[in-house]
Amino acid sequence: MKYDYLIVGAGFFGAVFAREATAKGKKCLVVDRRNHIGGNCYTETVEGIHVHKYGAHIFHTSDKAVWNYINQFTEFNNFINTPVANYKGEIYNLPFNMNTFSRLWGISTPAEAKAIIESQRGAVTDPKNLEEQAISLVGKDIYEKLVKGYTEKQWGRSCSELPSFIIRRLPVRFTYNNNYFSDRYQGIPEGGYTAVFERLLEGIEVRLNCDYLKDRESLRAMADRVIYTGPIDEYFGYCYGPLQFRSLRFETEILDTDNYQGSAVVNYTDRETPFTRIIEHKHFEFGAQPKTVITREYPADWSLGDEPYYTVNDEKNNALYARYAEKAAEEQGVYFGGRLGEYKYYDMDKVIASALDLCGKLL
Ligand code: FAD
Repeated sequence: MKYDYLIVGAGFFGAVFAREATAKGKKCLVVDRRNHIGGNCYTETVEGIHVHKYGAHIFHTSDKAVWNYINQFTEFNNFINTPVANYKGEIYNLPFNMNTFSRLWGISTPAEAKAIIESQRGAVTDPKNLEEQAISLVGKDIYEKLVKGYTEKQWGRSCSELPSFIIRRLPVRFTYNNNYFSDRYQGIPEGGYTAVFERLLEGIEVRLNCDYLKDRESLRAMADRVIYTGPIDEYFGYCYGPLQFRSLRFETEILDTDNYQGSAVVNYTDRETPFTRIIEHKHFEFGAQPKTVITREYPADWSLGDEPYYTVNDEKNNALYARYAEKAAEEQGVYFGGRLGEYKYYDMDKVIASALDLCGKLL
């Protein structure tokens, strides 16, 4: 055997595992079928701006061990995610907080905001669909201006036809605090995400444009063990049928202006605007470049072959995943991890923690 570990996928799960295994003296080969490292966190430099190619990525965590770990490979800037919503030209702060309520109703105290929300929530005790659920959580005004259109675009269906469990809670904050996350640590890697992966994978052999499943036998024969972070159903030839995803379509444009929207993230919450968000990448790093790059994000149905973005963890798909996971447990010397290997929505900090956990078990 030439390698101790063959690692399929150069995203956070694969790269962290490869780094730690290498530090323990193991010989690793990392393969990725894309033409770049970084998985979905990859950033590409355009006009001097780090463009988040697979959707905006903001690092946030309350896990001090993960924060200390990742800080070995990058410094983070002090970016705080404070997105705004644009509803037919009206601008509201997110997440729903006193700034939002003040703009909506012209009020100034938490007691006034609470009273208005309470009066609009209605008496629904057993919500039958997402619409009833959302109104019972935040009242009619917030639902109609800030939840309804956005959610309908995301799911491609009307809120009155969507199941209530999709939204279990809608955080409402009665302070003037626009920080979207409530985690202890937050920021964007200085120099973009790709540089973090270059450091994680420094000195480790990486083969790009290399699809493990297309050359499985010869690649498998090269290593004692395999860490597989691709789609679990694809690994098994979709023998039980494909797991479902939601997809996204991105439209990226370079604009000849230094500041297009004054915020990294603007959500378009009306039903008529076809995209859900515009990302202006330079604002993640307080960029002063003369031009700007924006990306419009369109939710999209997913079919086999499309880029899988969001897992659909409903009962049916979770049951299907459980069958694949059973099969995976029988694969000798192959370990499945990451968002595709475990069919799970993982934030970056959680995927790093999960990779470190596997390192603890195997290394
Ligand atoms: P990936 O990054 O997907 O890496 C898997 C890699 O495996 C890919 O590069 C793929 O090409 C490769 N691969 C698959 N199959 C094969 C094969 N057969 N052969 C070779 N290579 C293969 N998290 C946050 O913490 N903050 C955010 O703001 C945030 N925003 C997000 C926005 C969007 C739109 C999405 C979808 C996710 C977001 N995330 C965010 C989550 C974040 O993207 C994930 O936590 C992270 O990418 C998971 O890393 P991973 O290594 O599991 O998977």
